[in-house]
Amino acid sequence: MRRPSAPVPAGADPALAGEYPSAGDEVVSICRDLLRMDTSNYGDNSGPGERQAAEYVAGLLSDVQIEPEVFESEPGRTSVVARFPGTDSSRPALLVHGHLDVVPAQKEDWRIDPFSGEIADDCLWGRGAVDMKDMDAIILATVRQMRREGRKPPRDIVLAFMADEEAGGVKGSSWLVDNHAGLFEGVDEAVSEVGGFSVELQGRRTYLLQSAEKGIAWVRLTARGRAGHGSQVNGDNAVTHLAEAVARIGAYRWPTVIPATVRAFFEGVREQTGVSLLAGEEVDVEKLREMFGTTARWLEATVQNTANPTVLDAGYKHNVIPGQASALIDCRYLPGQRDELMRTLTELAGDRVTVEVLHGDVALEAGFEGGLVDAMRQSLLELDPGAAVLPYCLSGGTDNKAFSRLGIRGYGFAPLKLPADLDFAGMFHSIDERVPLESLRFGVRTFDRFLQLA
Ligand SMILES: [Zn+2]
Repeated sequence: MRRPSAPVPAGADPALAGEYPSAGDEVVSICRDLLRMDTSNYGDNSGPGERQAAEYVAGLLSDVQIEPEVFESEPGRTSVVARFPGTDSSRPALLVHGHLDVVPAQKEDWRIDPFSGEIADDCLWGRGAVDMKDMDAIILATVRQMRREGRKPPRDIVLAFMADEEAGGVKGSSWLVDNHAGLFEGVDEAVSEVGGFSVELQGRRTYLLQSAEKGIAWVRLTARGRAGHGSQVNGDNAVTHLAEAVARIGAYRWPTVIPATVRAFFEGVREQTGVSLLAGEEVDVEKLREMFGTTARWLEATVQNTANPTVLDAGYKHNVIPGQASALIDCRYLPGQRDELMRTLTELAGDRVTVEVLHGDVALEAGFEGGLVDAMRQSLLELDPGAAVLPYCLSGGTDNKAFSRLGIRGYGFAPLKLPADLDFAGMFHSIDERVPLESLRFGVRTFDRFLQLA
């Protein structure tokens, strides 16, 4: 959609002069285009891949003379990286990244076709509207407007749009870090998803900046026993051994541990509302739920490790006792808690069950001070005066984990001013994902200001 022209500012690149839509219009059309491209990631390479979306993104960048490089870890698993030079390239660069894949969606569960990119109730609907084609569009619309107006960020910005985040980034961020680390040379900090959105905290809009992430340990338990006839007495049954271990792990109440980021969050809540969510070193979960609604589901998981049994695999015939049985456990640990998690897990599994980590990734804690944090906070407060900003720890993971291997400190900053009654946190990986058009427009204004300050 071509909108009425905005005047071409003095200093704009003459090659980019002419009519162009404002970033506020473009953010909606770009997000809509991305939502219409099915980039479902099933985790087993059976999906459509990210190539179509990556080529679209590369086109939007080269259109404003930011030269994109396109990479494929495997055919169709496509990522795009580009460098937007700033006024002072001697400063460390800032990485601004997003992922192009989405988790799958079952059409029949949705009110609107998840890949139609429909606009209804002043929202843009579709799989990825929240996670995270909204932010991809905010980044693209912002840098396109800056280029057209001849504005440069104060330091170099590396723009990266990745494949495969939803399956741990193996074919996206991790692969780029392993094979093309030079792309990120000189980068010291990064911003990406799952932070910067607003919640209503006792009537005051409060933006949650993500400055820590839990670590991942996806574990397989294997029990071995004596195989045999289902009619016999068997005191060494692999299924029984496994079931006991799984039940112990699933029922275990992990102790409360409060990371520095979460402590700062509780402290901020107390200053803002007068309500303490901490009774000694224990968290008042009821109060947390009352104050934060569905966002509390994430917050609750940031004061303890978790170990959730998710898959069981045993047996092949009703009257045959199998010699082996296995289970998958999704474990997430707090910063500094990996050894503790593995020690407890091994103890709970018992001596008849082996524990092996199939996939692991680090916990991160970036801290909540310094120039970049100030820039995030200031941009939000300039565009939404009277709001509050708090740090928080994400119970899941992002591509920031892979980039941390290059010494890059990552934050979640996808600025969205949201209506108080919208269940935003509840829409990640869920049905009827949608983002208000006004929130997207707020996003580009804030992100533009942030890039000037960063
Ligand atoms: Zn995401």
